[in-house]
Amino acid sequence: MADWRAPRVVVVGPHTYTIRSLKGFYADHDLYGATWHPKLEIGMDSEIALSQAQDTLLHECLHTLFEHSGLSHKLNDAKEEKFVRRLAPWLLMLLRENPKLVEFLLK
Ligand SMILES: [Zn+2]
Repeated sequence: MADWRAPRVVVVGPHTYTIRSLKGFYADHDLYGATWHPKLEIGMDSEIALSQAQDTLLHECLHTLFEHSGLSHKLNDAKEEKFVRRLAPWLLMLLRENPKLVEFLLK
């Protein structure tokens, strides 16, 4: 069992996504996580390491931003995935390594 617990929900504009911890999701789908926009759900494998879980949740959150900002409709799925895969770990590092930036942004 992993030693982390993700938030139960993430609010994206007018929508509240429920985050589900899914046992065996990686083994079954070869993915750490996935997002189902019609159901407003984000699923994450419950056994992945903390840093993978953080990267995965940020990755899935970026997909929600692409979806609700209309960017998903401008890109095909493969292009969106490329953007999200590149952005998520860098955004995570930016936030982690700059707590004063995060503090400033949250004022
Ligand atoms: Zn993705």
